[in-house]
Amino acid sequence: MMTAPVDILVVGAGPAGLTAAMYLARFRRGVCVVHDGRSRALWVPRTLNVPGFPEGITGPRLIERMADHATRYGAAIREGRVTAIARAGALFRATLDDGDGIEARGVILATGVETRLAVLDKGDHDQAVRIGVLRYCPICDGYEHSGERIAILGSDIHGAAEAMFLRQFSRHITLIPKWDVALSEAQRSELAASDVAIVEGRVERLAADAEGIAVQIAGEAAPRAFDILYPALGSVPRSELALTLGAAGDDDDCLPFTAFSDGLLPGLYAAGDVVAGLDQISVAGGQGAMAATRLHNWLREIEGHKMADQN
Ligand SMILES: Cc1cc2nc3c(=O)[nH]c(=O)nc-3n(C[C@H](O)[C@H](O)[C@H](O)COP(=O)(O)OP(=O)(O)OC[C@H]3O[C@@H](n4cnc5c(N)ncnc54)[C@H](O)[C@@H]3O)c2cc1C
Repeated sequence: MMTAPVDILVVGAGPAGLTAAMYLARFRRGVCVVHDGRSRALWVPRTLNVPGFPEGITGPRLIERMADHATRYGAAIREGRVTAIARAGALFRATLDDGDGIEARGVILATGVETRLAVLDKGDHDQAVRIGVLRYCPICDGYEHSGERIAILGSDIHGAAEAMFLRQFSRHITLIPKWDVALSEAQRSELAASDVAIVEGRVERLAADAEGIAVQIAGEAAPRAFDILYPALGSVPRSELALTLGAAGDDDDCLPFTAFSDGLLPGLYAAGDVVAGLDQISVAGGQGAMAATRLHNWLREIEGHKMADQN
């Protein structure tokens, strides 16, 4: 079913999409948000680095509040996966997985990234994230683990960089390989100079419980015990809708950093984790606000407002 065109379609109901929707609704634009329920913010057990929440707030509660904020001003939010977006004259036409279609004058893609997950041999992955023994974001919560025994899974340059970043919080940092150690001698020396331990053996078993993480290394008599494990396995941007519309991604298919300020194509912007840069709730919100304002002013120009402010 195809409904009447809206001003703006926002794909994604994480911090980027919901901030964009709230701004657009307050600019009195007709805005429809479509999401498939997979915001990474929903995983956050309790964030302590979102400004204004010094006591912390859970990710689900934050998303609930952001959705409430946007809908109070008239944004419509519906669940569904957008499988394709194509140009249809002056409009964009999105197709949803239930067969519905949505037409819009402009689109903001706030589709985030897919995290590559650690596979546990024992213990439930999502429960380990909830109780905070499995962490995915050192920038977000390294501070909370000051002085603890921290393992980083992934002995390549990304893992090494995370290890060095976490070293400012704890002296007990161990880099463990997912497969092989893929580091140069110079990188090994730098890690050694900072007292970061590098495990050489293969991981045979990863187990999580309320006390922490046990890592069994091949050939070792007993598992090594850590308080926290940070998998450094990277993520995959959910940028396919932008790429099929003709936008250019970088080598990793991330969208360019200017996607939230200058747009990707006329009427098409992107914001949040799907854009190259720092994957953080505050950043996603800021980019959502900027994309919404730029897109609103772009529409105002089309509507004949030649003095549209280009902020
Ligand atoms: C365990 C964990 C803890 C974290 N802790 C913190 C923290 O403490 N502080 C912090 O600042 N950051 C934290 N982060 C990072 C933070 O969650 C992200 O930076 C933030 O959620 C990015 O917002 P976003 O809106 O860009 O993407 P997301 O929140 O991931 O939202 C993406 C949205 O796009 C939707 N979507 C994607 N493709 C489609 C499609 N084709 N059709 C329909 N919908 C689609 C998804 O359903 C989702 O609604 C954490 C991340 C993880 C994984």
